[in-house]
Amino acid sequence: MTAEAIIVGGGLVGALTALLLGQQGRRVALVERSRPNREVGELGVDLRNVAISPASAALLDQAGVWEALRSAAYTEMRVWEERGTGEVAFTAASVGREELGWICENSQLLEALWAALDAIRNVSVHVGDEIQDVAVGPAEARLALPGETLVGRLLIGADGGRSLVRSALNVGLADTPTGHCALATVVRIGNGHAGIAWQRFLLEGPLAVLPSSDPHLASVVWSQSPEAAGRRRDMDAQAFCAELEASLEHRLGRVEVVDRRVVFPISQLLVENFNPVPRALLIGDAARVIHPLAGLGANVGFEDVRALVKTAQGVPVDGDLGAQGTWSGFARRRRARAQFMLGLMTVFRRTYAAKSPLSHLLRNTGVSLFDRSGWVKQQFIREALGVGQAAGP
Ligand SMILES: Cc1cc2nc3c(=O)[nH]c(=O)nc-3n(C[C@H](O)[C@H](O)[C@H](O)COP(=O)(O)OP(=O)(O)OC[C@H]3O[C@@H](n4cnc5c(N)ncnc54)[C@H](O)[C@@H]3O)c2cc1C
Repeated sequence: MTAEAIIVGGGLVGALTALLLGQQGRRVALVERSRPNREVGELGVDLRNVAISPASAALLDQAGVWEALRSAAYTEMRVWEERGTGEVAFTAASVGREELGWICENSQLLEALWAALDAIRNVSVHVGDEIQDVAVGPAEARLALPGETLVGRLLIGADGGRSLVRSALNVGLADTPTGHCALATVVRIGNGHAGIAWQRFLLEGPLAVLPSSDPHLASVVWSQSPEAAGRRRDMDAQAFCAELEASLEHRLGRVEVVDRRVVFPISQLLVENFNPVPRALLIGDAARVIHPLAGLGANVGFEDVRALVKTAQGVPVDGDLGAQGTWSGFARRRRARAQFMLGLMTVFRRTYAAKSPLSHLLRNTGVSLFDRSGWVKQQFIREALGVGQAAGP
């Protein structure tokens, strides 16, 4: 039977898309390498955590998976730098909200999405089969798996930064090396995190310490060169805690315990087109990968989902979801937004990494002015929360 949509990739973005399209009553096929499992480190928290914006939380709520999650709200974000005097504080109250966002455990969120998918009979899930061929023609898309071929009206590549769908369709992309890896872990801190997301721009790269639902446990995402990340991953736990504490200028008190440390390469890329050929879309990290410094990758991926589901609402159930012209507006708007966010990340990264005394002076003056800028700062916060003008429908 022909599916209305075949989705490759059941990560955060693909699983949520399958769920919301399935809830519209559409026939959806989801293809994923392996079913996600709950992963918990020695301190009882997943080593990978994700900052969820209010707009993303609303979408997860619409899908029925938000309520049961063990998420930690944060009400304030403090950003400061290694060489500076300038500091920016973003508060939820300044934009009339109770919280800026929530930190969720990656594997818990994934598990909740997959549990909800299990309950939808019109979503067929294909786990573990290696894709052998991808073919997209004028009337349908075909995906060859080891014993069967899936046929659908629309193919959605949500298969992450190294997307097979993207390569199979020969989609052009701009790939900007960052020179960074991210070291992720969980730590126990003496003074507690106080519901604040802390971010310090070190010359070697940004360091984020994010609250968890336990007042003394925080997740760490530390961007740095691959050599430094490797060294800090392998170093003795006590030495790591001391280095982290010093890098945070002891603002959070003693870093008492550290969990296992994992290192991810950081890329930054953007495809030429989110709808590269008729009947195919790329979304989430398959379409663009953003430096994790602002915790936006999954959130902009969820924006793709929100816009995709809204466009799909204009097509009747059992109608042709891949019909000519359906996706051009979606693709244009999503790419423009991705370009804007990637540009913003590059400016942030370069500004804070510049070492000359002049850049230092400009940065400190600029940061202080920005902190006192009122309207400009509020608009910036709204965009980061996914509730500003540029976030799209
Ligand atoms: C250290 C770190 C911290 C981060 N922190 C944040 C944060 O705080 N907030 C935030 O918004 N974002 C954050 N991000 C980014 C965020 O994790 C990603 O943007 C998000 O996970 C992308 O989701 P995705 O579903 O598009 O891709 P992925 O999560 O990569 O999922 C892709 C899925 O496709 C599957 N797949 C791949 N190839 C195939 C194939 N051939 N066949 C079948 N299945 C396939 C994979 O198994 C995987 O399940 C962070 C990233 C890093 C590295």
